[in-house]
Amino acid sequence: MARPETDRQFTMTEKTLIKNISIVNEGQITVADLFIENGLIHSIGQLIDHKNVKIVDGTGKYLFPGIIDGQVHFREPGLTHKGDLYTESKAAIAGGVTSFIDMPNTLPNVLTIDILNEKYQIASKKSLANFGFLLGVNGDNLDEIIKLETSKLLGVSDDGLYFTKKGNLLADNPETMEKLFANCKSIIAIHSEKEQIVEENENIYREKYGENVPIEFHPIIRSEKACYEATKRAIDIANKLKARLHILHLTTEAETHLFRNDIPLKEKNVTTEVSVHHLWFSDKDYKRLGTLIKWNPAIKTEKDKKGLLKALLDDRIDIVTTDHAPHTLDEKQKSYFQSMSGAPIIQHSLNIMLEFFKQGLISLEKIAEKMCHNPAILYGIENRGFIREGYYADLTIVDLNSSWTVDKNNILSKCGWSPLEGTTFQTKVTHTFVNGNLTYDKGNFDETKRGLSLSKSN
Ligand SMILES: [Zn+2]
Repeated sequence: MARPETDRQFTMTEKTLIKNISIVNEGQITVADLFIENGLIHSIGQLIDHKNVKIVDGTGKYLFPGIIDGQVHFREPGLTHKGDLYTESKAAIAGGVTSFIDMPNTLPNVLTIDILNEKYQIASKKSLANFGFLLGVNGDNLDEIIKLETSKLLGVSDDGLYFTKKGNLLADNPETMEKLFANCKSIIAIHSEKEQIVEENENIYREKYGENVPIEFHPIIRSEKACYEATKRAIDIANKLKARLHILHLTTEAETHLFRNDIPLKEKNVTTEVSVHHLWFSDKDYKRLGTLIKWNPAIKTEKDKKGLLKALLDDRIDIVTTDHAPHTLDEKQKSYFQSMSGAPIIQHSLNIMLEFFKQGLISLEKIAEKMCHNPAILYGIENRGFIREGYYADLTIVDLNSSWTVDKNNILSKCGWSPLEGTTFQTKVTHTFVNGNLTYDKGNFDETKRGLSLSKSN
């Protein structure tokens, strides 16, 4: 008698054997088999075929731990015309990203624990990837935040909150920073630019060009000085008060010299990241792409781009993120001051890093360290980010010899465009497992399962 359909499906999804694959993990590449059972990595080695098991042939392919993206803006709740937790997590998974940390500038801004919990609720129903959310902090809720048991939070951040209320960047308010840094026991992830310098520059260029400032001036308005001074001051305060500071999306070569690489990540009290677009684009690209590549902080010079990669390789920069921030094409294609900052990029972040590998600029092991291992260490995420027996089976398989071109038909972000349209990548994500479930299989999605919330290891 045939077994019931549900039983068969259960067996199919719960047990998988990946055969003969090159496993990129913890500084090594080893060819082995990997067996997944009940959502976890059960065993790694030369394994014999089990019965009633789904087999994935990994011959010639590479297996990474699922990417953990430490900075995204998935727009839900409140801004779901741009993207939502379902659409953007789907784009993430097609790009090999199995976990993400979302920023607090959704609407309403995530300034209370109730709003934070509500986001976790929505994500548990909609997100195909694993999820974590940062609590927003600014001058308005600082006193409430420091009363909380902050050590239990994944982190607090002011990122993006300045869009809803000017003058709310922590980096601009040394007194607020001092009070927060002295009292907050979680990671404090800040957007580091001095608004005062930015505003002075804006006024200069507005006087000259009115509303239609050429986009080429964006990195001169949101200048190196604005970034450097803010980052330097924040680090000084963090060191003085022994706070756990994380500088989001670093953009200048000058700032990279403010970070250390003489101690392991685990021991650092100040960490930083680079977003893929700041490694991929430079100010040369404004002519071609205009406001489509308007980001805050801005895409800067070739020298900055090279300096950021160098600092990533020598460990002054700890992780790679995307700052994935979908906007509609309408919202982007406006005059300089009106055009929104940010762009969708999560679906292509691993492809971008693998393109650097193809150019001989970075090793596969280093990519795994900066996109998988280190985000787990930095945010203290439990049982993820490594290919280890007993860990969650969050896994990404890539084909390093498969070319494809980004176009409107293969973009999964809700906004339906990308600054990378027309770009040909030489590598492809073929399979993505989330908690042992083969959620993405060569272009097809299994949407029967939802991601889990990220838990902290201590
Ligand atoms: Zn951001």
